[in-house]
Amino acid sequence: MALTEFELIRRYFCSLGSGAHVNLGVGDDAALLSPPPGTQLVLSVDTAIAGVHFPEHSFPEDVAYRAVACAASDLAAMGAEPLGMTLALSLPDVDELWLHAFSEGLAQASRVFSLPLVGGDTTRGSLCISVQVAGAVPAGQALLRSGAAPGEQVCVSGTPGDAAAGLALLLGQWQVEELSAADYLQQRFLRPPCRLALASALRGIATAAIDISDGLLADLEHLARASGVGVRLQAELLPVSAALSTVEQVQRLGWALSGGDDYELAFTLPAGVPVPPGCTMIGETTEEEGVVCPGAPPFNKGYRHF
Ligand code: ADP
Ligand code: MG
Repeated sequence: MALTEFELIRRYFCSLGSGAHVNLGVGDDAALLSPPPGTQLVLSVDTAIAGVHFPEHSFPEDVAYRAVACAASDLAAMGAEPLGMTLALSLPDVDELWLHAFSEGLAQASRVFSLPLVGGDTTRGSLCISVQVAGAVPAGQALLRSGAAPGEQVCVSGTPGDAAAGLALLLGQWQVEELSAADYLQQRFLRPPCRLALASALRGIATAAIDISDGLLADLEHLARASGVGVRLQAELLPVSAALSTVEQVQRLGWALSGGDDYELAFTLPAGVPVPPGCTMIGETTEEEGVVCPGAPPFNKGYRHF
C-alpha cells in the first residue's frame, strides 16, 4: 500500500531537524528557532521546477542537493549564518526509491550547509521543490547589493561559466573529450558551491555582494543599479577553470558572462583591500551607469522567467 502523507513525512523528512538554534523541528504546526542575540533574521525562498530549473530526469539526490544549495546561496549573498530550512515539496506520486534518494541528497546538503530541516509541506502535483532558508546576521552587518561606490574592485569567487557548460553537457548540447572535465563541469551545475564561509569572511570588508544565479552580467547589473554605480569588467581577467581552458573564447565568455547557475559570489571591495583566496578581481565600479565588458561580444543579460 502506498505511504500516507504523514508516514512519508515521518520516514523521509523527520530526522534532519536538529541544530544549535532549533528549539522545535518537524512535527508541530510550525518550528521554533532562536536566532543568536544581537542578530537580524535573514529569510529567503527558492523554487526548483522539473524541466525549468533542472533537467526532467536528473538524479533525485542531485535535485535535492541543488535545491538546498541554491536557496542557501542567498544566505551567503547576505553574509548570513545558516539557522535552518523548510521544504515545500510537490510530488506527482509516492515513489519510495525516488524519495529515498531525494532524502539522501537533502541530508548531505543539510550537513554541508549546516541547515537543519525544521518543517515543510508535502502535496501532490508536478515535481516542484521549494526550499525556504533562515539565517542570522549580526545586526546591521548584512552584505547588501546597495553599498558599492565608484572606484572599487569588482571580484568574483570560483570560475563562473562552469555551471552553464555543465548544463550544456547534461542537455547533450555540447561535448568535451576528457571525462574528468565533463564530470567536474556537470557537478558544478548539479552541486553548486554556496559560499557561506567566504560570505562571513566578507562581512565588514565587502561593500556590496550578490550571488550569481542568472549570469554574471545580469547579477552585476542588479548590484550596480542598487548601488547607483556602473561596472567595467575586463574580459581577460575572468578566471577560467582547467576544464574550460581549451574552449574557444567566445563560447567560454558567453558561459562566464551570461550563463548563470554558478552560485558563486560577486562582490565589491574598496581599492587596495586584498582579494580573498579563491576569488579574482575582474573589474571596477565606475560613475557611468550600466555593466560593460569592452571587447566581449554583446551577450544577453541572463535568464528571465518572464
Ligand atoms: P499542517 O497541516 O499543520 O500544515 P502538515 O500536516 O502539513 O501540517 O505537516 C506536519 C508536520 O510535518 C509539520 O511539522 C510540517 O512542518 C512537517 N512537514 C510536512 N512536509 C514536510 C517536508 N516535506 N519536509 C519537512 N517537514 C515536513
Ligand atoms: Mg501543511
